[in-house]
Amino acid sequence: MRRSTANLFTALVVVATVRLVAQLLPQERSASRPAEGLIGKTRQASTAMEKPKQDEPCSRLDPLFRSALEHLPVGEPVTCNQVEVVEEIDVFLREYLLQHAEISFPSADKRNEWEGFVKESYAFTFNLRFPIYINGAKYKTERELFKTGLAKWHWLGPALAPALAHELVHAKGDPLESVAHTAELKLALALIAARKLPSEHFDVGALRIAIEEAKARETIEPPHARSAKQPWKRLE
Ligand SMILES: [Zn+2]
Repeated sequence: MRRSTANLFTALVVVATVRLVAQLLPQERSASRPAEGLIGKTRQASTAMEKPKQDEPCSRLDPLFRSALEHLPVGEPVTCNQVEVVEEIDVFLREYLLQHAEISFPSADKRNEWEGFVKESYAFTFNLRFPIYINGAKYKTERELFKTGLAKWHWLGPALAPALAHELVHAKGDPLESVAHTAELKLALALIAARKLPSEHFDVGALRIAIEEAKARETIEPPHARSAKQPWKRLE
């Protein structure tokens, strides 16, 4: 689950959009692992950023989301059909819960809490499986800016890619936030080193802190235990 919004856009000058962008863009809070050799190794990072092969042209996806997919690391491509953009989160949740009768909530409050959590998420997966859902409305401004094709917004695709790397960890079966945040950080650092993501637009320090916080939480209560106790929370 990736909820954070980013303060990734501090350097923008466009007045009207800046505030929106700052609210909407993915922000990552985390921390801890060293940069794993990526910082400063621009050449390696560039190699890692080569466009992954896609099963299909992904024409059904917004250019922003296509760009984000193209910036996932080589070796971990995500195909179009593994991503679903949710345009109307309320409608989506209603239909999803109708189709998944096995999901039950102990009370209306718990259901509301869960739904609120999903609605605030920028990207999410359910039950550690594909697809990766992108909460499309959360990226409204970024989608519009990216569609302009202006070079000054090209970094928005790479800025979203780390969020997908995070969800990819969950979709492949790992529930640990610390692991997902670490994958996110690793990709962000590689993109920054490759000069595809301006460092002022990604809060690496906050992401490092989030990793440490997640590790602390996971020590107290492993996610698997929590999921077993509270099946309605099985959303990562
Ligand atoms: Zn997560």
